[in-house]
Amino acid sequence: MQTNQDNDTYIADRALVKRWLDRVPVLETIDPEVEAEYKEKIKALLKERNAALVAHYYTDASLQALAEETGGFVADSLEMARFGANSKATTLVVAGVRFMGETAKILSPEKTVLMPTLEATCSLDIGCPPDEFAAFCKQYPDHEVVVYANTSVGVKAISDWVVTSAIAVDVVEHLIDQGRKVIWAPDKHLGRYIQRKLGNSEDIVLWDGACIVHEEFKTRALLEMKHLYPDAAVLAHPESPLSVLEIADVVGSTSQIIRAAVEREEKRFIVATDHGIFYKLQQQAPGKEFIMAPTSGEGATCRSCAQCPWMGMNTLQSLYESLRDGSNEVLVDPELGRQALKPLQRMLDFRAQR
Ligand code: 13P
Ligand code: SF4
Repeated sequence: MQTNQDNDTYIADRALVKRWLDRVPVLETIDPEVEAEYKEKIKALLKERNAALVAHYYTDASLQALAEETGGFVADSLEMARFGANSKATTLVVAGVRFMGETAKILSPEKTVLMPTLEATCSLDIGCPPDEFAAFCKQYPDHEVVVYANTSVGVKAISDWVVTSAIAVDVVEHLIDQGRKVIWAPDKHLGRYIQRKLGNSEDIVLWDGACIVHEEFKTRALLEMKHLYPDAAVLAHPESPLSVLEIADVVGSTSQIIRAAVEREEKRFIVATDHGIFYKLQQQAPGKEFIMAPTSGEGATCRSCAQCPWMGMNTLQSLYESLRDGSNEVLVDPELGRQALKPLQRMLDFRAQR
């Protein structure tokens, strides 16, 4: 496999992620009465501002429920983008991580986009700085540049395609079928999965990034768990290591995981993705049992085990304050935004044709 970085830069990148992680506050549990008060105040503010709340499946259950109760939307990153672009609301409040807010703004520059916090980032975004990525792309001038949505506006702006996990394999397959070569960035695990699915590693060059949440799922412990629950199907997000994906019965985006849980006959599932998804899994497939896939092993303390620390920064309090003050507005440089719109729109058009 080709990756861009030698061992030294690989270590430096992880240190960068660690520094960001150190800034994530440890959250306290919220009193139920305070929670109810926040919910009422948020509902009133959403109406007042003609705002829609769009939440990712990994955010806290209270935020997902609030989005549902107020005519907003809970979805994977692809459908969040589509909903925001089509919504009649003049303000979008995006509960998720920064690239999701930026995507909403790029697709709807005329709308106000707020986030509970602008500090919520993503290890894939941090690990792919636009200038380094531009230099990497220059080494492969005849390659089509396909990037994951979990990237900055600067990276999107120099790409040919933006894709999410729901559509990544299809887009790269489409390009390879046309005889094109592809740069895939930034998630190397998803990149390896695409190479494996298409049986082609020569024409798909990978950037060396990873999701700190999915990278923690452990193959040997998962095999032991499968032994313990032989009736369970394994559902995994493709940001997990390839050795985990090879054991999985279903590999898919968050929405594809939920669909599989609803449609499949098994009554028990081992789930390799962020634990926030359990809210939707239990709602959509009541009566079925969901078990978290093993992460760092017994007794381990791990801030990113099946729990995205940045998704966790979205709280009722920060959501309320953002709506009350109009704070944490997502702003995108207009020229960069226009450039980033082209590869994003290409994904939405591709999705619409399917
Ligand atoms: P989805 O596109 O499947 O929602 O995933 C987004 C993400 O950040 C997964 O870690
Ligand atoms: Fe990024 Fe991973 Fe968090 Fe998704 S779960 S937002 S890929 S760090």
